Amino acid sequence: MATHHTKMLIIGSGPAGYSAAIYGARAMLEPIVVQGLQPGGQLTITTDVENYPGFRDVVQGPWLMEEMQAQAEHVGTRMMWDTIVDVDLAGGSPFRAVGDSGDEYIADTVVIATGAQAKWLGVPGEQELGGKGVSACATCDGFFFRGKKVVVIGGGNTAVEEALYLTNHSDDVTLIHRRDELRSEKILQERLFASDKITPLWNKTVQRFVAGENGALHHLELVDTVTGETSTLEADGAFVAIGHAPATELFTGKLPMDDGGYLLVEPGTPKTEIPGVFACGDVMDHTYRQAVTAAGTGCMAALDAERFLATLEHAKAEAAE
Ligand SMILES: Cc1cc2nc3c(=O)[nH]c(=O)nc-3n(C[C@H](O)[C@H](O)[C@H](O)COP(=O)(O)OP(=O)(O)OC[C@H]3O[C@@H](n4cnc5c(N)ncnc54)[C@H](O)[C@@H]3O)c2cc1C
Repeated sequence: MATHHTKMLIIGSGPAGYSAAIYGARAMLEPIVVQGLQPGGQLTITTDVENYPGFRDVVQGPWLMEEMQAQAEHVGTRMMWDTIVDVDLAGGSPFRAVGDSGDEYIADTVVIATGAQAKWLGVPGEQELGGKGVSACATCDGFFFRGKKVVVIGGGNTAVEEALYLTNHSDDVTLIHRRDELRSEKILQERLFASDKITPLWNKTVQRFVAGENGALHHLELVDTVTGETSTLEADGAFVAIGHAPATELFTGKLPMDDGGYLLVEPGTPKTEIPGVFACGDVMDHTYRQAVTAAGTGCMAALDAERFLATLEHAKAEAAE
C-alpha cells in the first residue's frame, strides 16, 4: 500500500480520461490516471471506428485506445492499474481517494471520467454478435448498414432517436418494443409515426440473436408478450437501445446527479459543484455519448483544472504576503 500525491487525479481511462491526461501532462500537472476495470473504456469492446477524426481509414477501437494511452504516457502521465473504491471530496482540495489495491491518492484536483455502460438485453447471441450486427450505438455503427434491414429494440427516447437516425441509412427500420405504446416524448413519437421507413413491432421481446453462415447477424427470435407466440425477424443490424448506466455509484451523496445518475455540471463546463472536481465524457453527458465529445470534455476538464490550480496558487501567494 502506498500514498500517491498528484496535482491531477483522473478516474477513468476512456477517451475523456486519456484526453484530460494528455492536456494535464502537457501543462506539467503530472497527472495520475486510475484506469479501472476496463482500461481504454468502452471503445475496447468494439471493432470498427470510422468517425474519430484523424484517420482516413477505419480503425479498431482497442488500437485507438492503446494509441491514446501511449500518447498520454509519452507526455508524462502515470497509469495506475487500480479502481477507485472511495472518495472524500467534502473537505475541498486536496482531495482523497482510495483504490481497490489499498493505495491512497491525494490530489489537488480530481477529474471524473468513469463513463457509462450501455444496458444490454442479456439474451443469447447478443455479446457474441457484438460488432457483427449487434450494436448499442446507431450513431457509431449505423453507417455500416447503409441500404440494409435494421431493427432497434426499445421504446424510450433513445430507441426512437436511434430509429430516426437510422432512416438516414436505411429504408427498412423496425422498432421492436415490448409494450404497445412508446415511453418517448410525444414530439419524437410524431416524427417516428410520420416516417414511412420505420415499422413499429409491438408487444415483442427478443429472446435470441442468431448468426448466419457468415458468422454475422442473420435474424432475431422474438416472443409475443401477450400471446407468448414465437416468431423470427431477419435483420442485418440490430441496435439495442434500452438505456445507459453511468458509473457514478462512487459519488452517490457526494456530488449532485440527475434522475438517470449522470453527474451534474455547470452548463457548458465540466465543473461540478465542488471547486477542483471536474466531470467529463459519458459520465456527465447522456446526449452525445461519442468518443470525440468525451475527448473534448476531457480536454476542457484539464484546462479548467489547470486554471483552478493557478487561482489556488495565486491565493496562497497573496495570503503569504
Ligand atoms: C460497442 C460500442 C461501440 C462504440 N462505437 C463508437 C464509435 O464508433 N465512435 C464513437 O465516437 N463512439 C463510440 N462509442 C461510444 C464511446 O465508446 C463512448 O462515448 C466513449 O468511450 C466515452 O468515453 P469516456 O471516457 O467518457 O468513458 P468510457 O469509455 O466509458 O471509459 C470509462 C472508464 O472509466 C473507468 N472506470 C469506471 N469506474 C472506475 C473507478 N471506480 N475507478 C477507476 N476507473 C473507473 C473504466 O475502467 C473506463 O476506463 C461506442 C460505444 C460502444 C459501447
